[in-house]
Amino acid sequence: MVKLQEVTLSTWAIDRFAPLLGEDRLHQMKVFGEASAKRLAGRAFWHVNSTARGGGVAEILQSLLCYARGLGIDARWLVIEGTAPFFQLTKRLHHALHGAPGDGSPLGAAERATYEQVLAYNARAMLEQVRPGDVVLLHDPQTAGLAPALLQHGATVAWRCHVGADHTNADTELAWSFLQPYLRDVPATVFSRRAYIPAALDGRRAAVVAPSIDPFSAKNQRLDDSCVRAILVHIGLIEGPAGDAEPVYRAEDGSHARVTRKAEIVRSGRPPAWNTPLVVQVSRWDPLKDPVGVMRGFAAQLTGADPLDAHLVLAGPNVAAVTDDPEGAVVFQDSIAAWQQFPDRVRDRIHLVSLPMTDREENAAMVNALQRHAAVILQKSLREGFGLTVTEAMWKARPVIGSATGGIQDQIEDRVHGLLLDDPHDLPSYGAAIRRLLRDSALAARLGERARERARDELLTLRELTQYLEVVARIDPMEAR
Ligand code: UDP
Repeated sequence: MVKLQEVTLSTWAIDRFAPLLGEDRLHQMKVFGEASAKRLAGRAFWHVNSTARGGGVAEILQSLLCYARGLGIDARWLVIEGTAPFFQLTKRLHHALHGAPGDGSPLGAAERATYEQVLAYNARAMLEQVRPGDVVLLHDPQTAGLAPALLQHGATVAWRCHVGADHTNADTELAWSFLQPYLRDVPATVFSRRAYIPAALDGRRAAVVAPSIDPFSAKNQRLDDSCVRAILVHIGLIEGPAGDAEPVYRAEDGSHARVTRKAEIVRSGRPPAWNTPLVVQVSRWDPLKDPVGVMRGFAAQLTGADPLDAHLVLAGPNVAAVTDDPEGAVVFQDSIAAWQQFPDRVRDRIHLVSLPMTDREENAAMVNALQRHAAVILQKSLREGFGLTVTEAMWKARPVIGSATGGIQDQIEDRVHGLLLDDPHDLPSYGAAIRRLLRDSALAARLGERARERARDELLTLRELTQYLEVVARIDPMEAR
């Protein structure tokens, strides 16, 4: 029995963006958004993905859809249900779209049968809610196979792919040949970068839309230093005292919420003190985020004639919580095993942090505090679709070191908005970049400021929402009339 989950959404006015975007730009977005709502005329604008929490897509939808509702659009969010074999094969597809082999498992007829069977169940449940004429934006490979049933039902369907590879190889070919049959009749596809549009799909129907962040969410809202400190002491990441402030943040419903849970932290030494510089990477426990490489490159900077006096924090979701990512637990265990191999003085300076996911906003507030407290933020991915963690760091005016891969390159111009690593496998260069930012505070501050400006001008939610509405305007037959 498949139970689709409909995520409850609030309705948020977009006016709060005025101080960030300026009255004129906001007015234009409002006029266009409200005109889109009028043309949709009560028809729903569905978004469908495979998890309500954890990872970049859920993060974006949570805010974007509430602002869409604020413009009068009947935006809705459905989360499909799947089995363990389904999520294993979609994870394999995810890696393959990045051009990586993942677990190397086959993507043949048996996997196709599993994929189609799970999505047929989901489609059946979905067709009870989606009406002909509704617009549906399917997100990522997990949902692509729903397109034929929805099109047949009379919905207007587009597919949004959040991952991609800068270069094609046998894995990307494999993934696209798996997905292509489901996308043949879809009138529009959306990619985060032009380089991600595959030859297998009709490029003329593809749009490029970069992801975005919500500056007012628990993840990105302003927190003053005393509050950052209170949160980080409370979760056990840094040593007390916490000071006078409470570990609180503003929840989406406007109330003051409190961080009550603690992080689970794998460490051997004491928590770092408030004034210990932290080098931080926040990400899912995924081999493409290279947690082991992050540790090894950092560890090399702790020895030698001039060791760094900083600690490394690798933080990610508690692996028990993220249902569509079966690989997380394995990668987390591998990270612990690699950490155990280091000598004591290195181990004492590396903290592996599992953040509780029970309350999405509480988790976001923890990430926010951690990112704001970081002396340097890393995203040393081997491959990366876009890299929202980079956007989040930029918005917080933190100096970032990111791999020159995928969307990280679109966000950071090297030495302007952060530092780019040409080769994420080159651990000495990565270590040198950390050293440079920790030692040159003027450079770190300058990069952080430029990063924040770019995030404000180009990477906030309303820009992405407007672009989706442009795609809808292009493909919706009712709008075209
Ligand atoms: N994230 C989070 N809690 C965690 C770990 C990650 O909220 O414990 C968020 C992170 O802040 C970012 C998103 O998950 O918003 C990850 O998006 P990104 O594009 O960086 O990578 P993806 O997971 O989509 O590959």
